Amino acid sequence: MRHHRASRTLAAVATLALAAAAHAEAPFSFAATPGKLPKDVIPLLYDARLVPDIAADTFRGEQRVEIEVLRPTRRIVLNAANLHIERAALSGRGMAERALAPILDEKQETLAFELGAPLAPGRYTLALAFNGQINREGRGLFQVAYKAGGVDKKLVATTMEPSDARRLLPTWDEPAFRARFKLTVDVPASFKAYSNTPVEKQEKLANGLQRIAFAPTPKMPSYLVVLVAGELERVAARQDGVEIGVVTTAGKLGSTAFPLGATKDLLRYYNNYFGVPYPLAKLDQIAIPGGFNGAMENWGGIVYNESTLLVDPAKSPEDVKKLTFEVNAHEVAHQWFGNLVTMAWWDNLWLNEGFASWMAAKSTEHFHPEWRPHLDGIAEREGVLNLDARKTTHPIQTRIDNEEQAAGAFDSITYVKGQGFLRMLEAYVGEDQFRKGIRAYMAKHQYSNTTGADLWAAIEKASGKPVGKLAADWTTQPGYPLVSVSQSCVDGKRQVTLSQEQFRLDEPALENRLWSVPLQVGTVNGRAWYTLLANRSTTITQGGCEGTLVVDPYSVGFFRIQYDRASFDALAGNAARLPDPTRLKLLLDAWSLVTAGRMPLGDYVRLAGKYGDEPRLAVWESILSNLGTLDRLARGEPEQALIRRFVIHFVQPRFARLGWEPKAGETSEDRQLRALLASNLARAGDERAIREARERFARYLADPASISPEMLDFVVNTVGRYADGPTYAALGKLVAGATTDEERNRFGGAMTLVQDPALAANALNMAVSPQVPANLATVIVASIGREHPDQAWDFAVANRDALLKSADAVGRNRALASVVAGSLETRHADMMEQYVGQNFGPDALVEARRVGNGIRVRAAQKARLLPQVRSALQEEQQ
Ligand SMILES: [Zn+2]
Repeated sequence: MRHHRASRTLAAVATLALAAAAHAEAPFSFAATPGKLPKDVIPLLYDARLVPDIAADTFRGEQRVEIEVLRPTRRIVLNAANLHIERAALSGRGMAERALAPILDEKQETLAFELGAPLAPGRYTLALAFNGQINREGRGLFQVAYKAGGVDKKLVATTMEPSDARRLLPTWDEPAFRARFKLTVDVPASFKAYSNTPVEKQEKLANGLQRIAFAPTPKMPSYLVVLVAGELERVAARQDGVEIGVVTTAGKLGSTAFPLGATKDLLRYYNNYFGVPYPLAKLDQIAIPGGFNGAMENWGGIVYNESTLLVDPAKSPEDVKKLTFEVNAHEVAHQWFGNLVTMAWWDNLWLNEGFASWMAAKSTEHFHPEWRPHLDGIAEREGVLNLDARKTTHPIQTRIDNEEQAAGAFDSITYVKGQGFLRMLEAYVGEDQFRKGIRAYMAKHQYSNTTGADLWAAIEKASGKPVGKLAADWTTQPGYPLVSVSQSCVDGKRQVTLSQEQFRLDEPALENRLWSVPLQVGTVNGRAWYTLLANRSTTITQGGCEGTLVVDPYSVGFFRIQYDRASFDALAGNAARLPDPTRLKLLLDAWSLVTAGRMPLGDYVRLAGKYGDEPRLAVWESILSNLGTLDRLARGEPEQALIRRFVIHFVQPRFARLGWEPKAGETSEDRQLRALLASNLARAGDERAIREARERFARYLADPASISPEMLDFVVNTVGRYADGPTYAALGKLVAGATTDEERNRFGGAMTLVQDPALAANALNMAVSPQVPANLATVIVASIGREHPDQAWDFAVANRDALLKSADAVGRNRALASVVAGSLETRHADMMEQYVGQNFGPDALVEARRVGNGIRVRAAQKARLLPQVRSALQEEQQ
């Protein structure tokens, strides 16, 4: 699964802490796998027929489940939620069909049958008839209302992970209960329907309906079942004997060429990488408008919010291409890692998600090196390094007791720290050995489940390196180390001392944690050698003293580095000549050390001053994001004007070289850099940049083709931020007329940036209006909260029911906290924690405390950094 922000300008999705105790891990065993369901009865095949009533938002279903009783039992227990069981019967082993009385437990989400006498081991058939609801929010079977050619339409789709298959089918809905699924569906004759497997049979029924039967799936977990039905269109191509399809609502086939080509490339690449060919006959990529955010890797039928799959060749900017490719690469990687081999239980969710994220970065690097995904990955890692440096973090591998906690585990520690650890591990054991281990793992565990121990065993065997110990350090301990580096020259040889301590942004850790840290030590543009820092400190002697010392030159480590003064100055003095990853990492660590109070702000500003000619987009994004943080810390204070002047002064020379108009033959990176710099100039209040945005917006309203896709975000975000009434109304019209989610998110996102409080009130009301998809309501309020925390908070409290009516458990837990998540006033933290404590359950309070901690960390940073601003910035500008 890939959650993603509805637009880059909407607020970041916050993360959820889980009270956790690390535990040692054993290889997969079905009997020992955690979960609620007894393991003496297992499903083999679900043969289900579903009849959705699209107008009434209900459905009926019938299914025959072939089960195997492994041990004599008096009870059969499976999962069902929000289903009404009309009829249940059991037959088999010469036993005539006998009716069973369903016992539904809504809280446990189970369906049980008491059998009286024990049932002997062997195969039986459980026949069930049931009915349930089509949801408005994206869980289980849900409906999406949308417009096509100005006409109201409706489609139905599913998303099941982690535990919503039980809302559509009574199932053994835990990932270790693999079974085959054979779905049949009755839908209107104008519909097309897609599931995991190809259509096997299609027949016309009376009443304008048709019956579509799909081929049976391989053995798989229930959370991978998919059904999408509506007035849909499809393009297809073949790759390695597999039919690849891209499915959209009517009129959008023009935006399918890029994802179709990407999926072909990815299938070929992964077939080779994993060494086990993609096992299904087809792979559909299904784009649905609205409904839910992100994407879900259902085997053979991946469902995407259309903004994460479709690319309009005329209108979509390069960063949409990048996003869609990366999400596509993540979901297709899951077809092996997650689907063919599945984590045993949700405590190993990071294996699925960390791996898919890591693989996506790797394949993107292979196909699109011009996007420099490695640098983007280093920058993305910063967000989770900051979260993981606070007392409210949790280990990658976390105890999960129930499904609600499982839903909460989809956070950035799971995805991004998991990815970061795998990247570090791959570099340490070597690319070839790592792949050899993965291939052995796939071959051995296909169509089955695993724990982390199974993966480490495979990579350890392939590489001969102590992978198990390393993995235990990094996956069962929260946080990560700061590696301090000092050097001296003794008898013409370089002696490097490396020490570690846990890095924290809030308060020092008391646990004395240590990690096995794989460290590459070498010289800039020279050789580097691995050493494993497993103790608190070690000294190595290496080569001569010439050259500039660098640690972790490719920036693959999940840790921070602090050099001694002379080594830092040597690197800083060479900043412009450092390789890209070294140059970026130096800057990122320096900023983090500044925010932690370990380095003066002036040092960072002096270092950044050496990056004025910087060619890389990711490096500029990093510098401007840190200056943006400084700007927010200074909100309402006299220092803010100084910071804004500094930003304008810093950006202008580079921007002047790029110019306002695209140049013939320039790279896409330059085009994106122009937009980034223009946006930051405008945000800092540069009059020329604001005027340019307004003029371009006026031209855009008359002729949408007058602006290049790359500059459109700059234009709409800038006019949104500084909007007056008429501009705001014009943006509202663009939202109403948007034909794709990409456009709607762009224009709607710009409206949430508005500075004028009266217009912000307008935007808040928009969030709960019926025209806005329910999945966006809390995202919109949280985004407005970044500029107007008090106003957004009051609105969220006053409209709590409307805001939360379509939210699932995790959405509810995160919604209120997210409104003030960007604040740096401790009173917001106090107010929010108190409110959540009084009105929500304990899981929500965990999240509230994590967000509260973030606010207090920023408040402390404000107190620390603001007094340094004047001298730090003036010194640099002279
Ligand atoms: Zn995923």
